[in-house]
Amino acid sequence: MEFDRRDFLKLSLTAGAASALSGAISVFDNDANAAANKEGFEPLPNINIGGIIRPPGALPEKEFRAKCISCGVCVNVCHTMKYDTLSIAGLSDLKNFGLPYVKDTRDFPCALCMECLKSCPTGALQPVKKEDVKMGMALIDLSICFGWNGDVCLSCSKACPMGATIFDFYNGEWGNQPMINDKCVGCGLCAKFCPLGGSAIKIITRDEYKKVKDNYLADFKKTMNMTNEERYNLVYGVNLPLIMSRGRIIEREYRD
Ligand code: SF4
Ligand code: SF4
Ligand code: SF4
Repeated sequence: MEFDRRDFLKLSLTAGAASALSGAISVFDNDANAAANKEGFEPLPNINIGGIIRPPGALPEKEFRAKCISCGVCVNVCHTMKYDTLSIAGLSDLKNFGLPYVKDTRDFPCALCMECLKSCPTGALQPVKKEDVKMGMALIDLSICFGWNGDVCLSCSKACPMGATIFDFYNGEWGNQPMINDKCVGCGLCAKFCPLGGSAIKIITRDEYKKVKDNYLADFKKTMNMTNEERYNLVYGVNLPLIMSRGRIIEREYRD
């Protein structure tokens, strides 16, 4: 099911839905984040990406696995284009051994040049229009995104090759509050250019997104419906310390 700005608004306005939120489990586990940051090991939001992200134009997983002959042409083409988005799974991942996958988009986003899928000799990667690519889905961690915590930050939306069709902004006194809708192609350019330490955006598989979408939207709605006092306590009591600790972790990584 696709959702868009209208769905968000509908969710926000649905009478009685608020009570359902009290039991909502956050996709982004703040306690886990805080604990991880305290230990200094994990600068990422605690989100499961749900497995492997395949190159753009990849057939559905079962067919992709049947058609791909592990020739590595897509990986070489991507390397030649100097994007280095793709790699081939090695012995550490026997289930996917020999198959191409998208590396961490925070470092190697897909530029959607579409050269890899044009070069695939077996049709495991199929020609597709850029706007119809469905590599994955970008989720913004509302607890650490600058735009959701009193700031104005447009970096993700500026980096997005799909631009205005993907981003909705809920501007208000707590920031410019960006949301990414289902038209996202999963290229990861937003994750790469998010200025937050380790990125406030994670690209997850479409299957994983189906699982977490309801909780994510519930978090969105809950945040939007907070009173000013509740929001103040959340931003200043919980989120800003999280943001600061992530900043320090990245700073330390850079110094090492
Ligand atoms: S579309 Fe271009 S950048 Fe993206 S994976 Fe293929 S070759 Fe690499
Ligand atoms: S929101 Fe991010 S992952 Fe989605 S299309 Fe835009 S830049 Fe790519
Ligand atoms: S670039 Fe990062 S911090 Fe800035 S609005 Fe987007 S997700 Fe939030």
